[in-house]
Amino acid sequence: MSLQSITERIARACALAGRDVASVQLIAVSKVQPDARVREVLAAGHRVFGENYVQEAVAKWPAFRVEFGAVAVHMIGPLQTNKAKVAVELFDAIHTVDRPSLAEKLAKLAQTRGTCPQLFVQVNTGAEPQKAGVLPADLDGFIASARALDLPLSGLMCIPPEAEDSTPHFARLAGMAARNGLAGLSMGMSGDFEAAIAAGATHVRVGSAIFGARNYG
Ligand SMILES: *Cc1c(COP(=O)(O)O)cnc(C)c1O
Repeated sequence: MSLQSITERIARACALAGRDVASVQLIAVSKVQPDARVREVLAAGHRVFGENYVQEAVAKWPAFRVEFGAVAVHMIGPLQTNKAKVAVELFDAIHTVDRPSLAEKLAKLAQTRGTCPQLFVQVNTGAEPQKAGVLPADLDGFIASARALDLPLSGLMCIPPEAEDSTPHFARLAGMAARNGLAGLSMGMSGDFEAAIAAGATHVRVGSAIFGARNYG
């Protein structure tokens, strides 16, 4: 478990960027990890986690919350519209608002419930055909539509193309967020969270560097 070394690297990256360490939230991405590893990170006092699958999160987090008290869990994987209700009941944040039908569903749920998780719009900064996310050219219109539905947006999220340097993608996302008056920037994973912090990330999503490699077997 290398939570401490990641925390130290975040502090160093913040210092280098002249940023307050409190301005960056570490989301420990626990998808697919065995409970024993998650338990270690909980026992070390960490209280912000990320999950990719609604089913897995439902099976895991209610019990951990009983055992460890309040834990913030962020949805960082693709969200099917028919799981949106379960998702808003379980998650403190959803980083993957990526299409009008999901925005409409979340807006309805927010109205009925009178509350809404923190929301990030996922942007497909590399315009990769296989990847989810709103295309950069469609983003301003998407945000305007979401706001017309009274959907509260906190920020933007991206997953840069694997084969490319992340930094230009992070800079592009930061520019799009600033242009739209959004303060949240969910960007940076195990391989590039320091570059993301330098570019202004407010939320870094780090999995394998904390928990070890995921075994999908
Ligand atoms: C799995 C995942 C992460 C964590 O990836 P690591 O490389 O293990 O840090 C971050 N963000 C998203 C969207 C993910 O699906």
